[in-house]
Amino acid sequence: MQLLLCLSKPAQHLKKNPLMAASGSGSIMWFRKGLRIHDNPALEYASKGSDFVYPVFVIDPHYMEPDPKAFSPGSKLAGLNRIRFLLESLVDLDTSLKKLGSRLLISKGEPGQVLIQCLKEWGVKKLCFEHDTDPYYQALDIKVKEYTSAAGIEVFSPVSHTLFNPADIIQRNGGKPPLTYQSFLKLAGQPSWLSSPLLTSISSLPPVGDVGSCEISEVPTIKDLGYGDIEQEWTPFRGGESEALKRLKESVSDKNWIANFEKPKGNPSLFVKPATTVLSPYLKFGCLSSRYFYQCLQDVYKNVQKHTSPPVSLAGQLLWRDFFYTVAFGTPNFDRMKGNKLCKQIPWNDDDELLAAWREARTGYPWIDAIMVQLRTWGWMHHLARHSVACFLTRGDLFLHWERGRDVFERLLIDSDWAINNGNWLWLSCSSFFYQYNRIYSPISFGKKYDPNGNYIRHFLPVLKDMPKEYIYEPWTAPPGIQRKAKCIIGRDYPKPVVYHDSASKECKRKLAEAYALNQKLNGQLSQEDLDSLRRKLEQDEEDPEPKIRRQRQKVGHLTSQDFCKTISGGKRGRELMSILDFIDSGWPSLEA
Ligand code: FAD
Repeated sequence: MQLLLCLSKPAQHLKKNPLMAASGSGSIMWFRKGLRIHDNPALEYASKGSDFVYPVFVIDPHYMEPDPKAFSPGSKLAGLNRIRFLLESLVDLDTSLKKLGSRLLISKGEPGQVLIQCLKEWGVKKLCFEHDTDPYYQALDIKVKEYTSAAGIEVFSPVSHTLFNPADIIQRNGGKPPLTYQSFLKLAGQPSWLSSPLLTSISSLPPVGDVGSCEISEVPTIKDLGYGDIEQEWTPFRGGESEALKRLKESVSDKNWIANFEKPKGNPSLFVKPATTVLSPYLKFGCLSSRYFYQCLQDVYKNVQKHTSPPVSLAGQLLWRDFFYTVAFGTPNFDRMKGNKLCKQIPWNDDDELLAAWREARTGYPWIDAIMVQLRTWGWMHHLARHSVACFLTRGDLFLHWERGRDVFERLLIDSDWAINNGNWLWLSCSSFFYQYNRIYSPISFGKKYDPNGNYIRHFLPVLKDMPKEYIYEPWTAPPGIQRKAKCIIGRDYPKPVVYHDSASKECKRKLAEAYALNQKLNGQLSQEDLDSLRRKLEQDEEDPEPKIRRQRQKVGHLTSQDFCKTISGGKRGRELMSILDFIDSGWPSLEA
């Protein structure tokens, strides 16, 4: 285990607080992520030799307070589902701390300022918190450490959010992050902590000291944060360490399932009992230790005859997590295209209407829209479902910037994780890690393969619940009588497709081929001017009637039957569709309502 320790002498000018003596040898345990008791080396160290321990969590208004301008209920940075998940996790942590003779102290404000205030007020000698590689925490930690080093406060900040210390791996690789999973595995080897059992329980904690004049409260409710009475469908996943350990226990008790786990096999349309563990939100907030999870998996593997291996095994998934943490930590501007050495420079389109259609589940492709509803209501979707919608938004159909999709995920996912989310969006948009842009997920046949009856769609898009299975993935092809019977008129009750997949995906491939060629020619050093002129060229080719590929992108919600069917190459099916949609476009009174 890597421990980051820094200790320095107090500066002469810092006056002693009168409460210092009263606190004796006190320490602060600063919870940020790592919202757990098990395998929490920072908490363990905070309590060692301390008369008092102050377990603190700071509510950052930026992260928690309502932002009425945001596109979904929630704060500026997080959707309400995730905020609620966090509050539940804090309540659970407080309950566990109380059982150990302590409690969680909730304070509010800019976390750095609040913490420094607490350090001054309580006169503690030790500050303990889990090391965090996210840029937000890196900046915050610099600020706090400046104060502690001047004040002579010991800081203990162990790496326990990941299996490995990303900085170690980068150092072993000559200062650069490994860029492939296999090279990461080679450098990482076996985690050093694996040879000795992790501390999974604590019998008691030192009491909380006098809090002086610091404003401390109980864990707030959603209402306390100013959200009023919110009526929305909440995620079925409850936050907290207790729930995390329960879920983990359920997963590892099925040894056969663990031994045979193989991603990307698995059905993305299962939602009553999802095909994967749904432990990601718990790992995100550190309600579950990834190291403990990994150790439990090793215990199962030891007791079965045969099991899958990385990258496809469940342990392999945790290693993917560490891989992305390492690359993200070692790559400047990892979360954007510009200035990111790993990212192909691609002239993505900017189209607010199309983006809103995707975000609000109005693309007209039920598979895509159902996934986007699951994102909004549950804040969690299966990995391959995420693949489908990310591919559709970027290189598959809409050719919109991966950063726009990343932002939507970042807000709405309950497992939203800076390194993993950015890493996967880079991957899915063929901007980095994965470059086979000709392999596109069909928004029609991919989901159908797993769920021919469309049960997943019927659940998340009840407007389509009575659509016969023949049409559930392409409802615009349903004859008018069938649409009427299903009480779902396409263009009125459910949108027409925003683009025609076959031609849109061809367009995307053509654009990516050109962008890749230019990236290669200029060795990835594309200026804004290069990108703009490539964009102009691509648009020109698109509009020119001569190039083989006709412009197919239509204004959202205005794809007419003529436009649509012209894209279908002659055959019987095309003609059938033409007459059906002609009928829809013309006479039907309420269709365009
Ligand atoms: P399981 O299959 O049970 O895997 C166990 C754990 O392994 C997960 O909880 C997760 O921590 C880790 N893991 C699994 N797959 C990956 C992966 N591809 N990359 C890194 N770690 C992985 N995952 C997040 O946790 N947060 C995100 O913000 C996030 N954004 C994503 C965005 C896109 C576009 C895509 C395609 C994937 C994203 N993922 C993200 C990765 C993955 O989809 C989720 O981790 C996984 O679906 C969570 O479900 P689970 O816990 O049941 O996974």
